[in-house]
Amino acid sequence: MSGFNFDVITLFPKAFELIKNSGVITRALEKNLVDVNLYDLREYGEGPYRQVDDKPYGGGAGMVLKPEPIFKAHASIKKSLKSKTLLMTPQGKVLKQKDLVRWLTLDQIIIICGQYEGFDERIRCLADEEISIGDYVLSGGEIPAISIINGLTRLLPGTLGDPASLVDESHNSNLLEYPHYTRPLIFKKMKVPDILLSGNHEEIKLWRNKKMIERTMERRKDLIGKQNSVYHEENSQNKEVINNSINTLEVIEFIDYPDW
Ligand code: SAH
Repeated sequence: MSGFNFDVITLFPKAFELIKNSGVITRALEKNLVDVNLYDLREYGEGPYRQVDDKPYGGGAGMVLKPEPIFKAHASIKKSLKSKTLLMTPQGKVLKQKDLVRWLTLDQIIIICGQYEGFDERIRCLADEEISIGDYVLSGGEIPAISIINGLTRLLPGTLGDPASLVDESHNSNLLEYPHYTRPLIFKKMKVPDILLSGNHEEIKLWRNKKMIERTMERRKDLIGKQNSVYHEENSQNKEVINNSINTLEVIEFIDYPDW
């Protein structure tokens, strides 16, 4: 076993080719920071045709994944002490950045991908958590699984070139990130804000804080009431920006990354 292990039970292992060509994640695989092991559900299928699905009891559209192959595949995976099994389902808890951070303390995540109409209800008892990647329905759990692998891997130490880029990014503190600019200075008559050229790091930091709050207020007001560590009593500038927009605000900490 290398650093962090993802063990994925899927009927479409080929879907995971994507992670072999996706920059930061591919590099993490090459550096053995993560390992992605695929368990082809077909190999655990029943009978000469390796059957993995069947018609639903009670009738209705579509096919349902049978429990036996998934149980067999799950049993065949060697589990570490810090392992969790996640079941991909649109009925699960909607994935948040803080879930990815929470799972960093594990060293193994087993992911079960559904297909077709879904899976036999009894499969749910294998899962420690049921996860949805949003309130929409995809045809299989592979894209949700890749989202989790991607989102978690980029948080692992050694994966990103500059780990500082994790600190301010969107959803870390329930705020969206501030706007970024790079060269050229003027593009199609749009100029980079002067403050970013000032070299005054303190002022730039304050400007960015302000932009994070403004941007969240404009686009995702729902996030503000929940948690906002940029709002400190002593930080009068933030307080002013927020209070101009809303009346009440709960104060909670930034997401804490584990000590590695
Ligand atoms: N009939 C099911 C949906 C089946 S979609 C229902 O209404 O609940 C087929 C499979 O795709 C699911 O079993 C699940 O593994 C995956 N899937 C689809 N949408 C998803 C989402 N938003 N999040 C996580 N997994 C999803």
